[in-house]
Amino acid sequence: MDKKILEDIRCCVCGNRDADLFFQKYEKDSFIVVECKNCSFLFIPQYFSRKISYEDYKGEEVLEQVRQGNNWLKMQRHLLRFKFIKKYKPSGDLFDLGTGWGHFLSTGNELGYKVHGIEVSEMPCKYAREELNLPV
Ligand SMILES: [Zn+2]
Repeated sequence: MDKKILEDIRCCVCGNRDADLFFQKYEKDSFIVVECKNCSFLFIPQYFSRKISYEDYKGEEVLEQVRQGNNWLKMQRHLLRFKFIKKYKPSGDLFDLGTGWGHFLSTGNELGYKVHGIEVSEMPCKYAREELNLPV
């Protein structure tokens, strides 16, 4: 694992900041998932979220694109992800930190998970709450 990925790493569940107490659990094309050895929480290190530009989530025209977009197609993609997730977490609570427009959480909701979400961007949060009726 690249040392830069472990710079400023922090487990948001137990507060662990010791880089030696995380190990790489999975690897995807553009990110990795680490496990906190202290509390077993799985997450994508902060290193990757710093690379995201949040400018794309602001305009009214983006909201219109989301409304007109094919939610069904997005949810089919998430269903494929849930095939993987169900191997490790077949039911129960599902917490999505950074819910975005809510399609992932909505898919989890339809599969029977008890969903919870947090989104800092106002427009996606409002969309997820008011148009998808999710607890974000
Ligand atoms: Zn932890």
